[in-house]
Amino acid sequence: MLVVGGGFAGLEVVRMLAGQPVHVTIVDKHNFHTFLPLLYQVATAGLEPADVAYPIRTIFRKSGNVAYRHGLVARVDLDRRLAQLSDGAQLSFDHIVFASGAVANFFGIPGADEFAKPLYTLADARHLRDQLLLALEEAEAEGDVDARKLTFVIVGGGPTGVETAGAVLELLEVCLERDRMQIDRASTRVVLLDVAPRLLGGFSVKASDYALARLRKRGVEVRLGTSVAEVTTDAVRLASGETIPTRVVVWAAGVTATGTIVQGVGPDPGPSGRVRVGGDLSVPGHPGVWAVGDSAAVPAAAGGATCPQLAQVAIQSGRHCGRQILNVVEGRPTSPFRYKDKGIMATIGRNAAVAQLPRGPLITGFLGWIAWMGLHLFYLVGFRNRLRVFINWTWRYFDWPSGPRLIMADAEHAD
Ligand SMILES: Cc1cc2nc3c(=O)[nH]c(=O)nc-3n(C[C@H](O)[C@H](O)[C@H](O)COP(=O)(O)OP(=O)(O)OC[C@H]3O[C@@H](n4cnc5c(N)ncnc54)[C@H](O)[C@@H]3O)c2cc1C
Repeated sequence: MLVVGGGFAGLEVVRMLAGQPVHVTIVDKHNFHTFLPLLYQVATAGLEPADVAYPIRTIFRKSGNVAYRHGLVARVDLDRRLAQLSDGAQLSFDHIVFASGAVANFFGIPGADEFAKPLYTLADARHLRDQLLLALEEAEAEGDVDARKLTFVIVGGGPTGVETAGAVLELLEVCLERDRMQIDRASTRVVLLDVAPRLLGGFSVKASDYALARLRKRGVEVRLGTSVAEVTTDAVRLASGETIPTRVVVWAAGVTATGTIVQGVGPDPGPSGRVRVGGDLSVPGHPGVWAVGDSAAVPAAAGGATCPQLAQVAIQSGRHCGRQILNVVEGRPTSPFRYKDKGIMATIGRNAAVAQLPRGPLITGFLGWIAWMGLHLFYLVGFRNRLRVFINWTWRYFDWPSGPRLIMADAEHAD
């Protein structure tokens, strides 16, 4: 049995199969699980990379029937039941679960894939942190006000964009006020762009209004109904013809499974290039082939609709898939997946968040932040990571500039 990907979905599939009379190999191109919802804090020097990652081997160290293989699955032959790794190895399987997630969607906008910075892996987050800090150090060293170096553009007003915009602003405040950089605060800009008419599209209008008011009050320049036409090395060009000079463009405009290992799996691609799956999460017409999490068009309870690409969907679909594989192996019928909506949350700058639960009022501000913090600590993998993140957040609450503002690239290779 082969599970491709050790993200939220893949881990849950394997957890369901651990200790059962099956042999499972989990393959991931990273030897660790990444807690994607906190990547923006690594990118803005709030957390260390190791705080949001956990070795897959360690997670399953006590499960004798689970093996981890480090590698990139480059091709899968569903008929011959063989997965080809980029190092040339071939792995055979009776069941395969695609839990390979998604990648940034650049929507074919010229220059975006080359010059904008996506935030989907730990390497992305570290690179972005370097770029943000380098831009500030260069502006500081040159002593003049260079708009390109002091303007930070975030494209996409979903939770990732909103959280990143708030966190970039905090990073600027810390660098300028606490690290005593000489850059004039008034010459820095954090610009958040979205083509939609409101922020946090998946949330209620009240939550969007709260996020907009809060970000604007903090000093983020939010521009809605604004589409990006091109990204270059030193600017973002808008469809209106306006140009925003900048060296750092964070791309948080959405994700797609097109171009990933699931491309071509199943009869025709679902929304955002995801694999279409049946009610039990198997791929129709391919017995023993399953897809879960961000790589699958996971059916929502209502006819025809698909679940959003969220951690909860990945976790629940992974668990369900693991159980269905056991059903098949043990000769029982499979059952359909039912998504239980547990709510959505996003932080908006320091110590504030919106938490929208399926029932009850919208929770905002400090209470929302406490709810957000509790939930993220609960789902973070590894006790030491939880403890470190909890201490870090508590410390920052009382004395906020505690994050690791390190440029990891050597100066001669920094770009
Ligand atoms: C920056 C960011 C912030 C987010 N914030 C939130 C949030 O606050 N709340 C929320 O609910 N959701 C959030 N999400 C969405 C959530 O993280 C995803 O829905 C969830 O991670 C999907 O889980 P997954 O297991 O399907 O995929 P992933 O978590 O993406 O895991 C896929 C795994 O597959 C591996 N892989 C991919 N291709 C291959 C291959 N060919 N060979 C080998 N290995 C491969 C990858 O290395 C990765 O480990 C966020 C996403 C991002 C990017």
